[in-house]
Amino acid sequence: MEIAKQFTFEAGHILPNHQGKCRRLHGHSYRMEVAVGVPDNHRVYGSGSPLEGMVMDFGDLKEVVKRLVVDPWDHHFLARGDEKILKQLDPNSDDVLLVGVRTTAENLAAVAAMVVYNALRIPGSYVRVSLNETQDSRAIAVAPGCGIWLSQYR
Ligand SMILES: [Zn+2]
Repeated sequence: MEIAKQFTFEAGHILPNHQGKCRRLHGHSYRMEVAVGVPDNHRVYGSGSPLEGMVMDFGDLKEVVKRLVVDPWDHHFLARGDEKILKQLDPNSDDVLLVGVRTTAENLAAVAAMVVYNALRIPGSYVRVSLNETQDSRAIAVAPGCGIWLSQYR
């Protein structure tokens, strides 16, 4: 069983080693779906519980994703920290948010999935983040499990 909520945010980034268009400073209107899944009947609450028949409350999922991912990332320049363009920005401004990884859709999806998974801590669950960078291009990451892959990029 899985539930999902959808979010949008705008952010800038640059992929300095990339050969394509993303090597230039630019931004995206990201669309993100965050799903929380549990094995069938593993954690869906039983009769009499305020969460009867639920994986979790949609509002609680929305609050966590907004507080930990959408609000911090929205209208920021997302960076790993080694981008040359950073030297031209005011280090005292809050323009930049360092996310610790090269800001590909794959890595951002993985970071979001791990952050939400670690915050929810629902036994036996997983968090699947589907992050659209453009209308028809998206990366999908599932936590736990994506952290090992991410560590290769630090
Ligand atoms: Zn891009």
